[in-house]
Amino acid sequence: MKNLLYGAIEAGGTKFICAVADAQGHTFASTRIATTSPQETLAACVDFFNSQQNDESVYAGIGIAAFGPLDLHRGSSTYGHILATPKPQWSHTDLVAPFGVFGCPVNIDTDVNAAALAEALHGAGRGCDVVVYITVGTGIGGGVSIKGQTLHGAMHPEMGHIGVRRHPQDRDFAGTCPFHGDCLEGLACGPAIVARYGVSLDELPDKHAAFEVVSHYLGQLAATVILLLSPERLIFGGGVMSNPRMLDYVRCKAAQQLNGYVVGVDGALLPALDAVIVSPGLGLQSGIAGALALAKDTAGK
Ligand code: ZN
Repeated sequence: MKNLLYGAIEAGGTKFICAVADAQGHTFASTRIATTSPQETLAACVDFFNSQQNDESVYAGIGIAAFGPLDLHRGSSTYGHILATPKPQWSHTDLVAPFGVFGCPVNIDTDVNAAALAEALHGAGRGCDVVVYITVGTGIGGGVSIKGQTLHGAMHPEMGHIGVRRHPQDRDFAGTCPFHGDCLEGLACGPAIVARYGVSLDELPDKHAAFEVVSHYLGQLAATVILLLSPERLIFGGGVMSNPRMLDYVRCKAAQQLNGYVVGVDGALLPALDAVIVSPGLGLQSGIAGALALAKDTAGK
């Protein structure tokens, strides 16, 4: 009997991270591949997976955690395709078909759904039924894991594009979202911060108004998600949230938005909100760990 391998891909706008794990879940090889054209990038991923198997091993499953939006309807003629995306060349790319050469099931989900799943299985959401993972970086996205299953419906959550109330000191900025202008992503993603202030949060002094303004918007997302989905863990990752001041700002703003409904604002109940709104337990590994969880979750699919 051959040794079983699991292939994992975290497909991002600037790089694809590939990893291979054995049946025990031990990752023994990984690489990063620059995101160039779909043909070039996907061929490099296939080459890497090929290089990691031999006569004694075979892939049992491949998991892909990808930027979206994606068609995740199994049975659809465009299952695993990227839908219209602002990323040049990548709209309508079939992310699954190139991996058909390995003859194993291929499981694809959004990067944030996969990260929510990984955090629920192995990270900050262990033991929780409802785990939401938000990333705030080049864009803003959110994924949901409910009892070990990621949330799909008509498509998948796209919570970065919700409408938000303006901060009083931020009435004039038009926003950067190509679809909506001043949706949450258009006002609070990394490029929106640079467009407004000229630099990233890390380059601004501690008390700069940017922290107040950006967290005003992210706090609205946090409060909305708490009201909509009642997560036991609401995990904030991504480059903007890697600033050490941001998590406390977002907790504080979420508490103000909720204004004593569900959780209090008088300080006594804030520890409860501190336990809900947290950083990723897996650090920067949530995405690739999620892809590996998807690879192992292919049985019967
Ligand atoms: Zn938008």
